[in-house]
Parts: sequence; C-alpha cells; structure tokens
Amino acid sequence: MPSTTAPPIAQSPAQAPALVWFRDDLRLDDNPALDAALASGRPLALLYVLDTFSPNLRPMGGASRWWLGRSLAALETAIAARGGRLILMRGAAEDIVQMVAQDLGAGAVFWNRRYGAAEIAVDTALKAALTARGLVVESFNGALLHEPWTVRTQAGGPFRVFTPFYRNAATRPLRPLARPHGAWRFAPATAGRASRGETIADWSLEPRAPDWAGGMRAAWSPGEQGARQRLEDLIDRGLEGYAELRDRPDLDHVSRLSPHLRFGEISPHQILAALRHAEAAGTVSARDAGKFVSEIYWREFSYHLLFHNPDLAQANFNARFDAFEWAANPEATRAWRRGQTGYPIVDAGMRQLWQTGWTHNRVRMLVASFLIKHLLIDWRQGEAWFWDTLVDADPASNPASWQWVAGSGADAAPYFRIFNPVTQGEKFDPDGAYVRRFVPELAALPPAFIHKPWQAPGEVLARAGVRLGESYPRPMVDHAAARERALDRYGRIRGD
Ligand code: FAD
Repeated sequence: MPSTTAPPIAQSPAQAPALVWFRDDLRLDDNPALDAALASGRPLALLYVLDTFSPNLRPMGGASRWWLGRSLAALETAIAARGGRLILMRGAAEDIVQMVAQDLGAGAVFWNRRYGAAEIAVDTALKAALTARGLVVESFNGALLHEPWTVRTQAGGPFRVFTPFYRNAATRPLRPLARPHGAWRFAPATAGRASRGETIADWSLEPRAPDWAGGMRAAWSPGEQGARQRLEDLIDRGLEGYAELRDRPDLDHVSRLSPHLRFGEISPHQILAALRHAEAAGTVSARDAGKFVSEIYWREFSYHLLFHNPDLAQANFNARFDAFEWAANPEATRAWRRGQTGYPIVDAGMRQLWQTGWTHNRVRMLVASFLIKHLLIDWRQGEAWFWDTLVDADPASNPASWQWVAGSGADAAPYFRIFNPVTQGEKFDPDGAYVRRFVPELAALPPAFIHKPWQAPGEVLARAGVRLGESYPRPMVDHAAARERALDRYGRIRGD
C-alpha cells in the first residue's frame, strides 16, 4: 500500500510515473531514454534488472560482473544526489519490468536499445505486453552513433567491409546530445517487491574466494564520473600522437574508454562532441582525432555485424571456416590463459588481461593470433576466455574482433598473415618495458633478448636470474614450424 503521507501514485494518466529501465546505459548525461522521461513531466522511477533468467541471454563474465557492481554503485550515488533511488531487481526482465510498472502505477516505460538477438526478443515481447496494457513504451538509441539498420549499401543490404561502411556512416547526421532537462521529480515509494528492492551486495558481483579483483580495483574507476574523467584526461593530453602511437603497449597513448563505453557510462556521441570541440579549439590535431573517430567506428561496425549476424559469437561469418580442423589441446589453452607460452609479449598480454581486465589492442591481436594460428585452437575458445576476463567484454566487438583475427570474419585479416611474436614485440615494445611490467621474471634481461630469451647466451640469462624451463618457460611451439603447420591447415579449407 502507498504510505498515507505520500501523494497518490497516479493522479491522472499524464501524471502516472515514467519508468526508465537502465541496461547498457549506466549514465545520467546524454541518456535519451532518461531525457524523454524527464521531458514527459511525469514523476520518475529508475530501474535496473539483473537478468540471469531470460532465455538465450549470454551470462556476463566475471570481470564484467565486477565492473557492473561498481558501475551500478556509482549510478545509485548519482541518483541519490538528485533525491531519487535506483530500484534493483533480479529476475527475467520481461516479468520484472511489468511487475514494477504495475506496482508503481506507471504510465510510460522508456529504455535505450540493445542489439543482440536475445535482448531484442526480450524487449520486443515486453513492449507488446506493456503496450497491450495501455502504457506508453518508447525506445531510443543511446549506445551507437547510427542504428545498424540505417547504414546500408547501395543495394540496400548490410556492409561487410569496414571502409565503405565507415565512409557511408560517417556522413550521416548525428543526433544532438541529450541534456537532461525538466524537473527531477521522483515517484513515491510504492507497495510490492519494487518498494523493497534488492541491493548490489545481494547479487554477489564481486569475487570473494579468491578475490581476484585487486588489480582491477587499482586500475579502474567504473561509473559515469570515471568515464568523464578519462575522456577529459585524454583530451587534456591532446590525444598525444594517438594516430602514431596507439600501437605501442609500452606507452600510454590509448583512451581505455572501452569498458566505460561497454556499460554506457559515456556515449560515443559525447566522445565525438568532445573531440570536435577540442579539434576546433586547436588542442587536438585533425589526424589524431580522425584516427580516434575511426576506431569508434570500428565499434559501430561490430554492432552492425552483430545486428545482421546474431550468431556472431558462435558461427563463422565466412562459412568456409566451418571445415577448419581445430586442435583440441586443453593443456596448450591453459598455458595461453596463464601467460606461460614462452613468448614474452604474448605472456605479458595474457597476464595484463588477468590482472587488470584489459589489454592493449595490439596485444589482443597478438595473443589471439597466437592461440588461433600457433596453437590452432578454435577462436571461440579465445573469445569465451576474453568474455570472462575483459572488463570491456562486448557482445559485438569481442566476437567481431576474434573473427577478424581468425580470418573467418567480415573484412578480416587474411589467415595467412601470421604474426611473429618476436618481431612484433621488438617493433611495438622496443625496450621491453611492457614485458618487464607484466613478466617480472624477465625484467633483468637486456632489450636485445627480452622478446627472445631462448636466444640469450647462458651468462646473460644467469646474470638476469632467468632459468629457462624453470623460472620462465621455453617457447611452447617453434614459430617457423607453427607457421607452416597453420598455413597447411588453412590450405585444406581453401582447397590448395
Ligand atoms: P582506443 O584505442 O582508445 O579506442 C577508443 C575506442 O574505440 C575503444 O574504447 C573502443 O570502443 C573502440 N575501438 C577501438 N578499437 C576497436 C576495435 N578494433 N574494434 C572495436 N572497437 C574498437 N573491444 C571492446 O570494446 N570489447 C571487447 O570485448 C573487445 N575484444 C577484442 C578482442 C580481440 C581479439 C581484439 C583484437 C580486439 C578486441 N576489442 C574489443 C577491440 C579493441 O582491442 C578495444 O576496443 C581497445 O583495445 C580498447 O582500448 P581503448 O579504449 O584504450 O581503445
């Protein structure tokens, strides 16, 4: 029952609360669904549903769950500062949203769209059910610069190649930033489960035994404020040669905005607007800004692919790869996951991933290529590991990127381009600073051998305290032999 002191829930249909359902948009600024609710003049109710029940939804990985808990806590705080409350509920979203709407006597429900098939199925069913009960239901684009179905080839179909996609998409007008306007008037507490709600702690999103999140806590500030700060820092530093230096994992020239984007703590529109502003002010070069924007469009392209290929994380985009003979080698997979392959740059990347929930794009390409081509392990196994360990594990960018590296994807790197982990290390981590940071047992090796310790003379190894095969593994495969094997395997699906 409503409390006797609270105003009646719905004095008139136009005053029935607007329920905003947060999903991958954990921010208050530039949030079109929230903005529409505020603009409606209705009292607000804000909801997040931990949906581990709807069929076919991919459960979040461990690192993402950690991030989610922190991000929701930040959102709760921001809402509380405006005098409101974030209702937290766990269950099948279709049931929960209807139940909360009913408990509140809501007259309207707003959300920002998602692009996975299972998510779309939930949203479509919910929209039909709520509309049938007479509620206003509206959805918005909060996550992408352009809706995937609006960017089309001349023939009217989806794009399969990035560059024409980018050329086409980048000329389209962008929606204006949504600036929350109208009064923040919250719906009073009501009866039912929603009035009690749940807490973030109820959901055990943080790892306990063991607590593996220490490195992530040190590295990240989840939430809208943290996202804004990261963007500001990036712009303050003028992007510092992003176009030139974005491939260097030993330096700090990338934005690390990916988890913030994944959870919608910042929108691509906000990023583009800030870049354009800085470019106009002359604090960021057109070259750096252009390169950065094109990377944001790789994210867009990934969502374009996901929308048009809902099974992107399961099925080869290029069906020829269905015949590829992957190896079953759990021991090799385990060594890769643990950063014990014997190739320092690969091991540094896998350990950075485990410790911090993130690794640099160049290194992602290298470790993925190593798993797929040197070890011949199915890209889906790597994708699944990244899904579990990345704080930015993204339903579109992760499978699209794994397929890109595998050669099975859209506009993919050709399979026969097999990265040499030694020369790649020497090129992109020339002094070995990156390897030293994440593979400390090699830290005392001189730059000439840091990426190939097995070639170091005995006395150099001894001086550096490295005992190959004991303190650090020997390479688990020989690069040249692995390369030949991979090309041979690939030749079979090409019919060579
Ligand atoms: P920046 O260089 O600062 O780029 C800015 C933003 O552009 C990123 O935050 C990201 O949103 C977008 N972006 C940049 N490069 C790419 C790209 N190649 N594809 C799609 N978007 C891009 N990115 C994810 O967000 N989630 C994933 O799960 C993910 N999995 C990947 C798996 C593999 C095997 C590979 C090779 C790449 C993957 N990427 C993924 C893409 C890319 O590595 C990350 O987006 C990037 O490293 C994030 O760091 P950043 O924010 O500092 O990037």
